[in-house]
Amino acid sequence: MRPARALIDLEALRHNYRLAREVSGARALAVVKADAYGHGAVRCAQALEAEADGFAVACIEEALELRYAGIRAPILLLEGFFEASELSLIDQHQLWCVVHAPWQVEAIEQARLSRPLRVWLKLDSGMHRVGLHPAEYRDAHARLQASGKVEKIVLMSHFARADELDCPRSAEQLDIFQQARGELQAEVSLRNSPAILGWPSVPSDWVRPGIMLYGATPFEQPQAQAARLKPVMTLESKIISVRELPAGEPVGYGARFVAERPTRVGVVAMGYADGYPRHAATGTPVLVDGVRTRLIGRVSMDMLTVDLTDLPQAGLGSRVELWGREVLASDVAYGCGSIPYQLFCNLKRVPRLYSGG
Ligand SMILES: *Cc1c(COP(=O)(O)O)cnc(C)c1O
Repeated sequence: MRPARALIDLEALRHNYRLAREVSGARALAVVKADAYGHGAVRCAQALEAEADGFAVACIEEALELRYAGIRAPILLLEGFFEASELSLIDQHQLWCVVHAPWQVEAIEQARLSRPLRVWLKLDSGMHRVGLHPAEYRDAHARLQASGKVEKIVLMSHFARADELDCPRSAEQLDIFQQARGELQAEVSLRNSPAILGWPSVPSDWVRPGIMLYGATPFEQPQAQAARLKPVMTLESKIISVRELPAGEPVGYGARFVAERPTRVGVVAMGYADGYPRHAATGTPVLVDGVRTRLIGRVSMDMLTVDLTDLPQAGLGSRVELWGREVLASDVAYGCGSIPYQLFCNLKRVPRLYSGG
């Protein structure tokens, strides 16, 4: 059997969830959209359900996967509904629903629901992706309240630059949010992972941790709270071939690495078809039998190559960690112009093995 696999530590997931709550002092919706950032939404939700205040997903398809797997906790649809016809399923499965556009307000006014809907009313406070304009926010709130179709409305917005700790934009967005809400008395939800970890003064009754649950830092720089996260995923494989090359010999596609000295090359069963980033360059850290070394040459579809010259004890069958507790996914990601979010979401083909469930 091919030795490439992703080990998922559900105990670490729970640790990170508790950290989100502890740091924020708020209730927390565990964000498990995109198959829990590649970690497996059903297994992650099951591991958290006993203690989680609820979950958040991108769309109804993702919410139904959780409901069909028996998850009874609240589930928030972060983009609400894409068509009014989804409202009957939202009603039937008691999903919570973001409302970010006037047409969604109208659809709720006209909907026939068996019970009032729990709505998170989203303001565009400056990210300019989705969300109601500040000038239409209170009117939308009033209309929903008057509709008799909603039971409770949480006031919500999303930061564009919370991962930049010196950037004034988050404070500006908070100001815009506070002005738009005016006198509205309601629970508030503003913080994703970087805002939970890095912006303690932003008010929040509810937080929405995503990447931090999976133990990766959203910051490129070291950050004290992020240092407390535990990586959940270990992407590992084995050395399946070893080559001794004299100086001057090239390795792999495009001869992107040429041996500067007599070089021992290890071939690892892991490639970009598994989700390892193809643009990771020579020098990217990898762990072989517990010792740090470097990727060399180009990552190919099913294999990649590592430098074993200074690891004489390593050889065929040696364990390789591509990312995990020693080599952080965030280091691999930021080192190649990506982000840990994308690395995790790109995971494919490798089987996921769970522990701590
Ligand atoms: C994805 C998402 C989150 C989680 O963001 P992280 O940076 O992964 O914590 C929170 N809120 C909304 C609206 C999202 O779409």
